[in-house]
Amino acid sequence: MTTPTAVRDMKIISTIKQMQSYSMETKRSGQRIALVPTMGSLHEGHLSLIKRARELADIIVVSIFVNPTQFAPDEDLINYPRNFDYDCELCEKHGVDVIFAPPVSEMYAGNHSVWVSEEQLSQTLCGRSRPGHFRGVTTVVAKLFNITLPNYAIFGQKDAQQALIIKKITRDLNFPLEIIISPIIREPNGLAMSSRNRYLSRDAKQAASVIYRELKAAKDRLKINGVNKIDSIVEGISHAIRAEGGIIDYVKALDADNLKAISPSTQIILLAVAVKFEKARLIDNVLVYLPTT
Ligand code: AMP
Repeated sequence: MTTPTAVRDMKIISTIKQMQSYSMETKRSGQRIALVPTMGSLHEGHLSLIKRARELADIIVVSIFVNPTQFAPDEDLINYPRNFDYDCELCEKHGVDVIFAPPVSEMYAGNHSVWVSEEQLSQTLCGRSRPGHFRGVTTVVAKLFNITLPNYAIFGQKDAQQALIIKKITRDLNFPLEIIISPIIREPNGLAMSSRNRYLSRDAKQAASVIYRELKAAKDRLKINGVNKIDSIVEGISHAIRAEGGIIDYVKALDADNLKAISPSTQIILLAVAVKFEKARLIDNVLVYLPTT
């Protein structure tokens, strides 16, 4: 067994066996673990999750793993931005205790044939446009939970549908941990931070700021007018994004609790967008709390 590489105090662990031993030992000593799962190429959005983890637990584990099973063959797996050395520096600077960075062959050894799949919430939005995506996500997240044994796992509201699905598998499969959802961190122009923003030219980054501008304006309109004009509000968002050169995958308003159509019992609306600017598929969302009558 190789010993974990240490960058000052931070450990970099790449095998499942070592990670599990470390986590078991940590928990035996009475310390709590918070896991921040990422695909690397870290930015301020990821760092905000790490800060939240620090508030909750004694030991922070950041996983860095570009999970091949959540990419379709025609997606950007090969070109997905990777920046491991810089990620390590950032993590160390922000007090991360362990980076868990396994190779693909470690996570999907040999004849891997067991999958975790959620079958309701993943039928819409990104699940519809990216068949198989959430099965890859839920499988790798379940594996990460079993490997790192966290008390808390921190995810971003940026991936709103993913957050709901992870909460659901945690409940339905009885993982003994708490899921924490952290707010969206944005660029100064409002664009939600994303590793994929690196694909964008300066002009496209500016044009893509229309997404959040429109979501915010729609949220204000919904708060004033209620859901009566929801269809025209959604159409207005699409129109404005197209006018800036975005190619719409979806713009949808759904019940934020169950991702079903808005109904009289809806209390919170999820307004969610997926759109392509240049080579980048960008997602963003806002939550609208409807006034109680
Ligand atoms: P990724 O590396 O893109 O898979 O993201 C890892 C985690 O960071 C996920 O839980 C994301 O929701 C979260 N995340 C990504 N971008 C942001 C952001 N701009 N604000 C907050 N959380 C984010």
